[in-house]
Amino acid sequence: MTLPRERIVELDKRHVWHPYTPMGRYLEATDPLVVTSASGARLFDANGRSYLDGNASWWCAALGHGHPRLLAALRDQAERFAHVALAGITHEPAARLAAELASVAPGGLEHVFFSDDGSTAIETALKLAARYWAQNGRPGRRRFLALDGAFHGETMGAAMLGGIEVFRHGVAGLVVDCLRVPARGSGHEEAFVALGDAIARHEDELAAVVLEPVVQGAAGMRVYDPELVARARELTTKHDVFLILDEVFTGYGRTGPFWAAEHAGVEPDLLCLGKAFTGGLLPMAATLATRRLFEGFLGEPSRAFFHGHTFAGNPLGARVALEVLAVFRDERILEQARPKAARIARAFAEFSELPGVTATRSLGMIGALDLGEPGYLNERGRRVYDEALRRGAYLRPLGNTVYVTPPLNVPDADLEELLGVVGESVQATRAHLTTP
Ligand SMILES: *Cc1c(COP(=O)(O)O)cnc(C)c1O
Repeated sequence: MTLPRERIVELDKRHVWHPYTPMGRYLEATDPLVVTSASGARLFDANGRSYLDGNASWWCAALGHGHPRLLAALRDQAERFAHVALAGITHEPAARLAAELASVAPGGLEHVFFSDDGSTAIETALKLAARYWAQNGRPGRRRFLALDGAFHGETMGAAMLGGIEVFRHGVAGLVVDCLRVPARGSGHEEAFVALGDAIARHEDELAAVVLEPVVQGAAGMRVYDPELVARARELTTKHDVFLILDEVFTGYGRTGPFWAAEHAGVEPDLLCLGKAFTGGLLPMAATLATRRLFEGFLGEPSRAFFHGHTFAGNPLGARVALEVLAVFRDERILEQARPKAARIARAFAEFSELPGVTATRSLGMIGALDLGEPGYLNERGRRVYDEALRRGAYLRPLGNTVYVTPPLNVPDADLEELLGVVGESVQATRAHLTTP
């Protein structure tokens, strides 16, 4: 790769349509970071500058960039074979990874359906739930229930579960019928009551309740009471409705324990994984299911789950994903992250004193602060982003929620520097705002 930086930006601006990006403003005003390499918790640009990767590259690089063991696993597998169909064929990486996932997952999730990314892991779960009921005596159960502020991905089915208005505009209700309840209310009572009412009232139509356990990431790192997850499990069990937990963001230790479900002591019927699944090396995901669900697709061939993705169980991804689990064990990643999480919690508690900061929160390797009312289209977060870039950190906000979700093994010195940049950038934005 040898193009000069200006040429890359020129080609990009002419042809690349960026995700979640108002492109008019991007074309006119954005001088994009052009990454040429990445290592540990840092990105390096074409000018040789380094930037702390404040969001672990969209929450994927849980073990940092360029982990030597993950690279070695990828290289080794690439030299053996890169891809084969997973229909009537199997291979060691897929078989071992499925067994490994079943052993680390909460409860009796014994069966693993592989797909490509978080969204397809959700699609798989939705289809499994609806088809299960269709062919096991409850064909009226075709609706889903999710929380306000939910984010479960961007494919059509997953997007229909979403409760963030700007993502739903123009597509809401197109394919999946989704009921919604608040994630919180006064003392969470409102949420508990709404959830209980909705499940009881719609028992005959509900295929599943879908939750991001304990933290709604895309909504602005909104942490809610684990009791709501526990309550959802109680009620779904009582009414025999499936509980789908979306741990695409929260899994792999992001919130402290390996699964966020552990905060609530809950075992779901379906568990969706993605993002950190391959440590950010390859797009790959999985949906884990209970034996009951699996058995609901046995019998006549027409009862089979006719659903799949071309790259299902991709050997490169599976091999790397297996190595990710091994690194978590061998390097005691969760234990090592604990003091780092405590440091994030302390820093964000202190950020509540900064001018313009209206709320702060932290959980595990997540720290977040709000600059005024939450909302995806607010501008202040973007100003902090610009300030942070100047100071050597990539701090992509969620509206006016500024947050860090660094690699779980971020070196202490890098974490210190990152937190320093957050504080300084928020302060600088405030100064900038008050200057006419
Ligand atoms: C990112 C995310 C998804 C979607 O994953 P993609 O890999 O972007 O398709 C689904 N659920 C949650 C909770 C996420 O954070």
